[in-house]
Amino acid sequence: TAQVETLEFQSEARQLLQLMIHSVYSNKDTFLRELISNASDALDKLRLEAFRDKELDVDTSDLHVELETDPVARTLTVRDNGIGMSRDEVISLIGTIAKSGTAEFLAKLKENQQNDELIGQFGVGFYSSFMVADKVTLVTRKAGATEGVRWESSGEGTYTIEPAEDAPQGTAVTLHLKPEDTEDRLYDYTDKAKLTEIVKRYSDFITWPVRLGEDTLNSMKALWARSDATEEEHTEFYKHISHDWQAPLETFRLQAEGTFEYQALLFLPAKAPFDLFMRERKRGVQLYVKRVFIMDDCEALMPEYLRFVKGVVDAQDLSLNVSREILQQDRQIERIRRRLVKKVLQTVKALPAEKYETFWGEFGKAVKEGLLDDTENREAILEICSFDSTHSAEGQTKLAEYVERMKDGQEHIYYLTGDSRTAVENSPHLEAFQAKGYEVLVLTDPIDEMWVDAVPEFDGRKFQSIAKGQVDLEDEKDPEQEKEFEGLLTWLKSTLDEQVKEVRLSSRLTTSPACIVGDTYDLTPTLEKMYRSMGQ
Ligand code: ADP
Ligand code: MG
Repeated sequence: TAQVETLEFQSEARQLLQLMIHSVYSNKDTFLRELISNASDALDKLRLEAFRDKELDVDTSDLHVELETDPVARTLTVRDNGIGMSRDEVISLIGTIAKSGTAEFLAKLKENQQNDELIGQFGVGFYSSFMVADKVTLVTRKAGATEGVRWESSGEGTYTIEPAEDAPQGTAVTLHLKPEDTEDRLYDYTDKAKLTEIVKRYSDFITWPVRLGEDTLNSMKALWARSDATEEEHTEFYKHISHDWQAPLETFRLQAEGTFEYQALLFLPAKAPFDLFMRERKRGVQLYVKRVFIMDDCEALMPEYLRFVKGVVDAQDLSLNVSREILQQDRQIERIRRRLVKKVLQTVKALPAEKYETFWGEFGKAVKEGLLDDTENREAILEICSFDSTHSAEGQTKLAEYVERMKDGQEHIYYLTGDSRTAVENSPHLEAFQAKGYEVLVLTDPIDEMWVDAVPEFDGRKFQSIAKGQVDLEDEKDPEQEKEFEGLLTWLKSTLDEQVKEVRLSSRLTTSPACIVGDTYDLTPTLEKMYRSMGQ
């Protein structure tokens, strides 16, 4: 008909689709998890929308997901009667990838062999259909709209879109399964037993019924309310809410009873998402109220520096009508947040060494932002931090370990900041400290420059930069020496008058003849550079 339009995928979307079509995946079954996950989200959204908008004319009495197979035509359809999509939404949600950083991510993918893992960090969602299908048809009608939309594509550059007269409300995704998979029982996605197994494995906790014919395949138990859940169930639940394809590093729970009751199930990911340091990065905790999904990225529940923590909080006594604005000011939510933060910090502290190292390598830079933002938990954050140190060329040290090794009479925790470990190690400032056997922390992240200025002490010991002010290493001034060098000092002072405030004899050097030292309250060279580049 004349109303069929052919449109092009946005170029990032096209590249990603090429990868889905042509790469080899270790586990293709996961496409079904993605489609059921989307269907479940759509049902959540409709329930909430129907609750908030009493004018919306929809039947919410039997919200569910339905699988339908046609072994002869070799198709599998995943259908939901959820919120559906308008034509514009189909184009923008399915035809484009709006995530910032996509181009960089794709460049990384091309260089890398292990695509499974990277794709997992990115979350390809709907496009994973093209791992198993050579053509995908999506028919959808938005709740409240009269006309539907039919979308179809083989994933190769373009898709068609046209009106669909009698589309039922909700979304149906039909996969035309690849012929090469038909012979292989392992990949027969029209086989009932196979589908049952996949749903049980990946989507059991989905809170809506997932049906195949007369049977409901999933148990629908909210995982956060179950204390008997297995590790595998936790992992699949984590993948559903986080859009990660890897198992989490750590799983932990929290609950409160009494006047303000809630349950939380939280996860530390094993790998940082590709956009951890991008500005519009979302936070990872979902809010439910009495088992009803309310919102993703609930920023009121987790501070920014813990944005990588994923999970669910189900609160009993909130209204389903809560908005983000209300939540920001809610005292009870504030209380939950404070407990969640403490629990996260305790959990990290208790991680076994190997897991902790993974964690710190992935998320340490983000956690250190908390030293500036979260003064209430400063000491607890300092306890889980690790830093490079002159103590050892490999591995890092925790502050408690540093303090343990401090020399008799040493009062301060010494540190030196710089662009890289090598730069710091070649600094003349280090000489005397090393010669006298003092350990110095080597701080090379830009954020380090900021927090060491803001954080007064750890365990009662001040942080002291060895590049600033007068750092005297026990030895007294020698009047003889002072006298001997008086002429040189006076001459240097007058010659360098424009450049330096003061010239003095120092005990901090062993082999270098001189070095430049900042005043106690001066900016460090790195910070000075930073401010200058910001035009200040
Ligand atoms: P994600 O789920 O991570 O957002 P997807 O690629 O899985 O990414 O889906 C992209 C978007 O398309 C979803 O965010 C949603 O807005 C829309 N979408 C996908 N499937 C459905 C569906 N069954 N019903 C309604 N909207 C859907
Ligand atoms: Mg999805």
